Amino acid sequence: MNKTYDVVIIGSGLGGLVSANILAQHGYKVCVLEKNNQFGGSLQTFVRDKTIFDTGVHYLGALDVGQNLNGYFTYLGIMKDLKLHQLDKDKYDVITFDNVEQEFFHGQGYDQFKTILKKQFPLEEEAIEAYCTKMQEVCMQFPLYNLNFNNTGYDKEIFGLKLTDFLNSITKNDLLKAVLSGSNFLYAGNENTPFYVHALSVNSYINSAYRCINGGSQISKLLVKKIRNLGGDVLKHQEVIKFHFNKKTVHSVETKKGQVFVAKQFISNIDPKLTLKLLANKGFNKAYTNRINSLKNVVSGFSIYIVFKPNTFKYLNYNYYHFQNPESVWNAQNYNIENWPVSYMLSFGVKKEQDKWAESLTAMTYMHYDEVKIWENTFNTVAETNDRGDAYEIFKKTKTELFLNEIEKKFPNIRACIQSVHTSTPLSYRDYIGNSEGAMYGYVKNAERPFESFISPKTQIENLFFTGQSLNMHGILGVTIGGFLTCAQIIGKEILGKSVLKVLDAKH
Ligand SMILES: Cc1cc2nc3c(=O)[nH]c(=O)nc-3n(C[C@H](O)[C@H](O)[C@H](O)COP(=O)(O)OP(=O)(O)OC[C@H]3O[C@@H](n4cnc5c(N)ncnc54)[C@H](O)[C@@H]3O)c2cc1C
Repeated sequence: MNKTYDVVIIGSGLGGLVSANILAQHGYKVCVLEKNNQFGGSLQTFVRDKTIFDTGVHYLGALDVGQNLNGYFTYLGIMKDLKLHQLDKDKYDVITFDNVEQEFFHGQGYDQFKTILKKQFPLEEEAIEAYCTKMQEVCMQFPLYNLNFNNTGYDKEIFGLKLTDFLNSITKNDLLKAVLSGSNFLYAGNENTPFYVHALSVNSYINSAYRCINGGSQISKLLVKKIRNLGGDVLKHQEVIKFHFNKKTVHSVETKKGQVFVAKQFISNIDPKLTLKLLANKGFNKAYTNRINSLKNVVSGFSIYIVFKPNTFKYLNYNYYHFQNPESVWNAQNYNIENWPVSYMLSFGVKKEQDKWAESLTAMTYMHYDEVKIWENTFNTVAETNDRGDAYEIFKKTKTELFLNEIEKKFPNIRACIQSVHTSTPLSYRDYIGNSEGAMYGYVKNAERPFESFISPKTQIENLFFTGQSLNMHGILGVTIGGFLTCAQIIGKEILGKSVLKVLDAKH
């Protein structure tokens, strides 16, 4: 017998789970279908040598009371159960360069952020003030970013403002520009990145920055529990492979197991390019399909996951963003075989009773899909294993050594502290998440063509909606807000806004 729902959601990434939670709270009978063994998409964790590693969430911003992600997570009913560890208030991110001895710090809270940077750049007080003012001014223009569900208009010019142009307008100091943009691995920034992408992302961490104790999968676990408590179904090993139509609307989706799920409405939380492929040219016009398929995927990544020997490597309560030189902040993605990796991010795992020693470290850098394309016909996840062969193992080992050589420049004793090293490549992201070419954050946003990559949650098929990181903004905050935007299409913005305010007023 086919199961019938109000809303079926394809993919249990954060966007899918947030949407299911909101709809279930509003009385909709929902079902989330996930292809993997673990829910959460990029919130998934894995264990090596009894050590938990995150795959796609290393720190979260804006989780203090009164801040936006705290508000949304409170509404979703998960805030009070999250196990969090605040990063150092005077330096949650540290920006460094091979050719500059000094380390540069991003502090939490705009006052602290300004004070620290003004000490490090005493001649640049005015530029630092101008930067902080603009950051907050731009963030104020996005209503849902401020938990405001009223229809206020955007200043469209904001979408076309380049981060580089703005920085050039406030200072001539290239080192300061690089330091202000130093955490741009967060959004795979380059010289065409819109200022708003930088602002919405970095502002949240300046407000407050936390690591998840024992990993970010606690977010998906709490969301799944909540959805089930509200009567929803969340099912794993259910890969959607087909859409069935009833004239012009979707009637049902079919999974690899041959099960059919019927619903009045559908939300796709997977890469829109993949959704269009599954729709097999039905429902969308050619112009739309061509536009989406021509969007450039954000670059992918290569990560190494280090388990330390006990009590050998000091735990650092901040992240490192490192570059070969200030110029490489803008072009780290244009690496070549000789100079890879041009930049990297380091983040330490945090456990419940964190002492002075680190258990684990994740190091991430850019890697183009082309580098692993020769193995693209292989597929490998916990649920479905497929050996990629010796050449792939050698490739990973070679890259790991090159990456460790770079990290060793910062931490000369690191190799002696390593118990084991594990890796992931663009193929791991592709296979586990289903993103085209293992793209880390969906599609490239380019300030020169700001509206090209805009995708509305409302689609050309009346009862099909999109959600997830390829719309609006990526990241835990961006995708959460995106889930509210998608559900506003189904529930109504006013009703959803009122219900959010009611919950938040009652709590605070
Ligand atoms: C390396 C890396 C580091 C990151 N670090 C941070 C960070 O520190 N802080 C932060 O805020 N953000 C970070 N992010 C970004 C953040 O994790 C993502 O933007 C967000 O989790 C994406 O959510 P999503 O809703 O788009 O779902 P996704 O994570 O894209 O999940 C989609 C889900 O759909 C499933 N699926 C795909 N196809 C099918 C199908 N046919 N049928 C059923 N299910 C299917 C997938 O298995 C997956 O579970 C990072 C991302 C990466 C890659």
